[in-house]
Amino acid sequence: MEGIMSGGVERNPDALDLARAAYRDISLYAPDRTPCAVDVSDNTNLFGVPPAVTRALASVDSAAVTRYPSLYAADLKGALARYAGVRPEEIVTGCGSDDVLDSAIRAFSTPGQAIAYPDPTFAMIPIFARMNGLTAMPVPLREDFDLDVDALLATSARIIYLCSPNNPTATAASVAAIKRVLAGASGLVILDEAYAEFHGAEFIGAAPAYPRLLVTRTLSKAFGLAGLRVGYAAGNAALVAEVEKSRGPYKVNGLAERAALAALTDGLVWSRARVQEVIVNRARFVEALRGRGLSALPSAANFVLVPVQDANAIATAMRKGGVAVRPFPALPRIGDALRITIGPWPMMETVLARLAETQR
Ligand SMILES: *Cc1c(COP(=O)(O)O)cnc(C)c1O
Repeated sequence: MEGIMSGGVERNPDALDLARAAYRDISLYAPDRTPCAVDVSDNTNLFGVPPAVTRALASVDSAAVTRYPSLYAADLKGALARYAGVRPEEIVTGCGSDDVLDSAIRAFSTPGQAIAYPDPTFAMIPIFARMNGLTAMPVPLREDFDLDVDALLATSARIIYLCSPNNPTATAASVAAIKRVLAGASGLVILDEAYAEFHGAEFIGAAPAYPRLLVTRTLSKAFGLAGLRVGYAAGNAALVAEVEKSRGPYKVNGLAERAALAALTDGLVWSRARVQEVIVNRARFVEALRGRGLSALPSAANFVLVPVQDANAIATAMRKGGVAVRPFPALPRIGDALRITIGPWPMMETVLARLAETQR
């Protein structure tokens, strides 16, 4: 009772015994998210949202709020299928691609099995591994930042997670390496293409032809809808059906579905133009870094990873100057680095100025 009244988590030791044992080691996902004038820390669309989405949200009627949304987002699946070049039954949606990843991991593994992934990669994957009772098997990227295919396959993991372009390195895996993983894997392969719009190569359209491949995507990055939480996966219809069971009904809310439909139709031209702008600004930013004696890993995404001396100290100093970047201390093979999202050029100039102040 005391614990409940005081609201203190640590005052209720029973909670730890009541919860799954594996949950003892899980902490809440907590990157520094205090508001900052210029926030280039989370790879979202720094140009805003497609105007078509703003219009769609402004014209929402009360039925979209008082009624339940569609069970499995059928209209959205249709639009995504057209966008991805697959059939609607080869698409599953979710509350962000995080939800799709978690649902897929749950659908295709049992606690005690293993998930292998390149290291470093998307920070949520080790967390999803624990949430689902899986053994995490990180496999360092090769020196050229491509996948270590032999080491990944040698894990015999139930699930192999790949991310290309990869977060946080921004580097792309080679098509040959991905195909070798697909040919040799004994379990499910998840290929996270959250940043594929900023790269050329993609597997999503071909996903249904591979019996054990699920390709995940999101509307949080290129499409600017991170706050609405819309993600999806494409794959063989039989695989997708299992993910759909695992994720459950009503996961995409009614407003999010309308906004996503607008983004994928009238909003497409806007998003494609912003992607081109990111690619141009990315090259210009990397060039400007070089002029300041810094280099970035080769980027195929809407962000760059910049190796530095002391990532935490630099990020803290930049934050005091009103710029939020994401520090990554002690990455395997890379060491300390800053992850910086690419946005409109004036914003990038502010980032460069604050960064330069820390390098003096
Ligand atoms: C941002 C990100 C996601 C999460 O996307 P949501 O759809 O917003 O959940 C998934 N994978 C990678 C690699 C990401 O960087």
